[in-house]
Amino acid sequence: MNINNERSLNFLEEIIEADLASGKYASILTRFPPEPNGYLHIGHAKSICLNFGLAKKYGGQTNLRFDDTNPVKEEVEYVDSIKADVRWLGFEWAGEYYASDYFEQLYEWAHLLINKDLAYIDDQSQEEIRLGRGTITRAGTESPFRNRSVEENRLLFTQMRDGKFNEGEKVLRAKINMAHPNMLMRDPILYRIIHASHHRTGDRWCIYPMYDYAHGQSDSIERITHSICTLEFDVHRPLYDWFIEKLEIFPSHQYEFARLNLTYTVMSKRKLLELVKAGFVSGWDDPRIPTICGLRRRGYTPESIRLFADKVGVAKRDNVIDLGLLEWCVREDLNKRATRFMAVLNPIKVVITNYPKDKEELLEAPVNPEDSTAGSRKLTFCREIYIEREDFLENPPKKYFRLCPGGEVRLKYGYIIKCEEVIKDDSGEILEIRCSYDPDSRSGVWRSVKGTIHWVAAAHAQQAEVRLFDRLFTEAYMDNIPEGSDYRDFLNPDSLKTVTAFIEPALADEPARFPVQFERLGYFIADSQDAPDKRVFNRTVTLKDTWAKTAKP
Ligand code: ATP
Ligand code: MG
Repeated sequence: MNINNERSLNFLEEIIEADLASGKYASILTRFPPEPNGYLHIGHAKSICLNFGLAKKYGGQTNLRFDDTNPVKEEVEYVDSIKADVRWLGFEWAGEYYASDYFEQLYEWAHLLINKDLAYIDDQSQEEIRLGRGTITRAGTESPFRNRSVEENRLLFTQMRDGKFNEGEKVLRAKINMAHPNMLMRDPILYRIIHASHHRTGDRWCIYPMYDYAHGQSDSIERITHSICTLEFDVHRPLYDWFIEKLEIFPSHQYEFARLNLTYTVMSKRKLLELVKAGFVSGWDDPRIPTICGLRRRGYTPESIRLFADKVGVAKRDNVIDLGLLEWCVREDLNKRATRFMAVLNPIKVVITNYPKDKEELLEAPVNPEDSTAGSRKLTFCREIYIEREDFLENPPKKYFRLCPGGEVRLKYGYIIKCEEVIKDDSGEILEIRCSYDPDSRSGVWRSVKGTIHWVAAAHAQQAEVRLFDRLFTEAYMDNIPEGSDYRDFLNPDSLKTVTAFIEPALADEPARFPVQFERLGYFIADSQDAPDKRVFNRTVTLKDTWAKTAKP
């Protein structure tokens, strides 16, 4: 069966198609297994799109499973945000599960391993256990407690559960092989004692399973067919398979793909948490960090993130994806859907001296030139307007096509104006530019000038706060920063610039929860702090990748 003929299959699709063709599985079941210890980021989005996307493509289903085996770091706030983010990305899960729901089953299975003499209680300290593991080149040494009787192990494990011991006093370990070439197979710890309240199970448990023991067994309990995780877990696979074999449970299979890394940002929950806690950013939804809620507030759409996940594909080797690709994807999507408006971010006043003082006229502009059904909007034109300070140069270089003394430029959707005079204050600061206009040059009537600039009518424009975001870090490869330096040393001091802009009055009336394009400037979205009496817009992305031009040598 080859459902997708247009494009070559990725390695996971190949595996799934083979498994369905051979009849190994009648249908597939994947899962997305976040630990609720932080907000999801774009790396998780990649994993979500992959797990849900594969199931959807092959008529299967996906579970959402919270890997909540560590009571110390996990919170309900995170559970709720994760669910909201997965839904926002456009996916619905078949079952909502919690590894903590399986604690009883996992505990019984641990007894099964003890009964088969495949697990034992170790009284060594954490440090002794660590040292006993050996190194990659040197075999480990067996614990003096390794050969406890099955009966004693059973009793001690029951007492562990009953809270008879302090943290660190005892652990349950698998009895595998202390000389195994894979360090993770040298009698890994299955359970440790933590006297802490869990966000779901309360104080019912004081022993908690380790990731390796909980994760694969949870997959088995749910009968997950393809358990997809990131590359660093490939060394865990032998252990994953060992538990399935020894417990004789449903044979889920683990497959690994390269985790997503992006230039100019950090992706780990730990670092993001540090940035939030230390106030380097305003919160988990700060539009500069790659959390899903940050991207949403920044104006990214679910479609753009799904497109990005698709373009990145699935790799078997770690790499770093250019942030430019993510920006390209959001431009692709917003170009099709963003409503066009004009806004001037750095205004300078232009007076059109031959335009009557009390005259006003309505000009027409498309709502979205990419969408012929979107219709048109009206723009009020009058004698005084604002243009962008950057669109005027007193001493222009050759081939400068915007406004300059004696030069002509077209006002978008309007007339051609000519700069006649520049008015300055005593310090030489330009106060206003006086222009004449050509009444016969209204847009649509053919007369060509090289440059077109955007503008807003001074009497009608409304003020808005506009937040211009840039990269959070100055360094592209944040995983490769020099040894001894801290990632926080590379924070971009100019990652947020706030300006007071003038916006087209039609936009001022809008509640504007939809993406907009400020013509010639970029894509923007009303911020969550936007209010009718104080408009606030976030720049999602510029229209073109401007970084290359402005990058310091
Ligand atoms: P972090 O390292 O950022 O804290 P994590 O891997 O600890 O992330 P989990 O909640 O355990 O976060 O991850 C849930 C799922 O998302 C896992 O299957 C994990 O492999 C996947 N995932 C996490 N980060 C990435 C990433 N950068 N790219 C792709 N998948 C990821
Ligand atoms: Mg994790």
